Amino acid sequence: MAAMRVIVLGSAAGGGFPQWNCGCSNCVAVREGRPGFVPRTQDSIAITASADPMTGRFVLVNASPEILAQIQKTPALWPRAPRHSPIAAIVLTNGDMDHVLGLFSLRESYPLALYVTSSVRRGLEESAFIRTLRRFEGQLVIRELVLGERSVLADAAGEPLGLSVTPSAMSGKLPVHFVGHAKGAPEDNIALSFEDDGGSLMYAAAGASADVDLSGHDVVLFDGTFYREDELVSLGLSKSYARDMAHVPIGGETGSLARLGGLRARRIYTHINNTNPILAPDSEERRTVEAAGWEIAHDGMEMVLERRNGEAS
Ligand SMILES: [Zn+2]
Repeated sequence: MAAMRVIVLGSAAGGGFPQWNCGCSNCVAVREGRPGFVPRTQDSIAITASADPMTGRFVLVNASPEILAQIQKTPALWPRAPRHSPIAAIVLTNGDMDHVLGLFSLRESYPLALYVTSSVRRGLEESAFIRTLRRFEGQLVIRELVLGERSVLADAAGEPLGLSVTPSAMSGKLPVHFVGHAKGAPEDNIALSFEDDGGSLMYAAAGASADVDLSGHDVVLFDGTFYREDELVSLGLSKSYARDMAHVPIGGETGSLARLGGLRARRIYTHINNTNPILAPDSEERRTVEAAGWEIAHDGMEMVLERRNGEAS
């Protein structure tokens, strides 16, 4: 019986939960340890095609600034030899700081394969910091993802990991540090469809529209950054609306709850901003989302996709 195991390492949007400089009611409540408020680190997942996670090799999606703490909290990602890591490859959804910074925390001379689109690669190669991951030939092997094309994922030496990934463009925006410096491209922000013999997973954690084809997957992790278009504005925290930050809100006529209701998949919101009312255990918004059949990702959440006789369970 084939299986794909997915571990949510981080389920928060950029800034995390709580965010260091935020005093919104959610951040205050989680800092005070109020019941039902659970801290979250910045979004990342780990995937293995192995039935046994304690022997399987993993692909990470995104490298968050909290990557070392995320590894420490996840025994399946601990070394199994004096110099070893079960992490064999990393795939990036975009070049945002909250997805890239963790790479530089993995600089202790261990070979890794990195899968990115051409535009994200260009952004990385412009940084002198990338050299810290090139201390020897083959330490960081970068392989380019092409929109709509399936790639079989392999470690730095080229050994396959039993998983494939197909990227598709999600309407997004350039990382803040490239605005005015680089031209935007469809490759800047992608959704990732992972497949193995056990099933298929869609990771679409950031996108400006819910009008995307997410059909044919067993599990969909989707952008849960904001509940409302004017969430930050109405709280007086920012002048930016959700669309200015390229995130489709959960609620509203064009929101993901309304648009993705027909999806036949296990549906999970992730990349949740600390201001989002679904993080409050007793909120109306939490009840609405759960009543519609959605789950809310939390750090440490695990799911196993299994297929018996070719059928997804
Ligand atoms: Zn906050």
